[in-house]
Amino acid sequence: MSIPNQPQNFAFPKRSFGEKKPEQRSFQSSWFDSYTWLNYDESRDLAFCHLCMVAKKTGKIGNTKVDGSFITEGFSNWKQAPTLSAGHAKEKVDNRTQLLKILRSIRFLARQGIALRGHDGDEGNLMQLLQHHGETDSSLLACLER
Ligand SMILES: [Zn+2]
Repeated sequence: MSIPNQPQNFAFPKRSFGEKKPEQRSFQSSWFDSYTWLNYDESRDLAFCHLCMVAKKTGKIGNTKVDGSFITEGFSNWKQAPTLSAGHAKEKVDNRTQLLKILRSIRFLARQGIALRGHDGDEGNLMQLLQHHGETDSSLLACLER
């Protein structure tokens, strides 16, 4: 698997932020330490999420539910970069939590010798079990609706 582009000795260009008292800010290479998935594009002075880019490229995620700024458009709001990145990191943790719930349901069905799928996608045993859990787990329900 490819690795994110994380130049350490690059002269990151400055951009101006704010109207009244403009501040000059640039990408900080120290952000690579906190966010190992950060990918920096020197030619466009934009940051991306390497993991989401790879997932998108290989068809593992669709267009709709991931913030495009981390995949296709890139982001350059260096003033909000730490906040945006922390939000994106939290999204990854949340997705992992939901994935573990799905894996536990698969393990349950496999243990009981029950088929995961039915004739129709939503009528399958796995989807029905997940929807059943979703009745008491709003975060799982929200994940299923994506
Ligand atoms: Zn991502």
